[in-house]
Amino acid sequence: MLDVRIIRLILELRESGISNSNVLSSIEIIPREKFIPENYKNQAYENIALPIGDNQTISQPYVVARMTELLEVKSNHKVLEIGTGSGYQCAILSKLARRVYTIERIKNLHEKSFRIFEELKLTNIVSKYDDGNKGWKEQIPFDRIIFTAATKKITDVIFSHITENGIIICPIIKNDKQIIVKYIKKDQRIISKEYDNVLFVPNLSGKI
Ligand code: SAH
Repeated sequence: MLDVRIIRLILELRESGISNSNVLSSIEIIPREKFIPENYKNQAYENIALPIGDNQTISQPYVVARMTELLEVKSNHKVLEIGTGSGYQCAILSKLARRVYTIERIKNLHEKSFRIFEELKLTNIVSKYDDGNKGWKEQIPFDRIIFTAATKKITDVIFSHITENGIIICPIIKNDKQIIVKYIKKDQRIISKEYDNVLFVPNLSGKI
């Protein structure tokens, strides 16, 4: 039986303008509480970001839904996520894509999310512990790339990871703000468009 808290969250997301039914059903199916530490579980279906340890956060459901919608994921797509964190965004993507590759620079978070993917039997996720800014050369090309940490600039290495008509969604740091930017590769050129203001933890280099 569906938890009334999930139904309420879905309604709230719809009211905030999320209309893609595949994205909404993915949010309905994936139990967000599994990705949240014990002391915050009672807030799992509230539309807020929550701490996940190691000074990081699980994103607000609205932001996950919005970025996933903008990513325009199709069932035959290979997706790359930079910033696994709790693993929640990745789990949502795993219900929409053929395969999701995800990279996390904090070992503890990488290991925790790996165990949750196993428990939920999300067998189309491949995760690795590394600095995501280096990309995942062995798996090139990707149809879609999503950054879930605020980034100053996307490097050419990452742009070279996507297919023609490929899309990258990233919270970009601009002056004192962070804005969701969508990049589309067309005829070997990159077109960009700006969306909502957001608040993400920073994208940092190296592993810890
Ligand atoms: N998608 C996550 C959001 C987590 S917060 C979720 O649904 O919970 C962003 C995560 O990005 C943090 O865990 C942080 O450690 C990670 N991160 C930041 N810079 C990174 C980098 N260069 N490579 C890989 N992971 C990075």
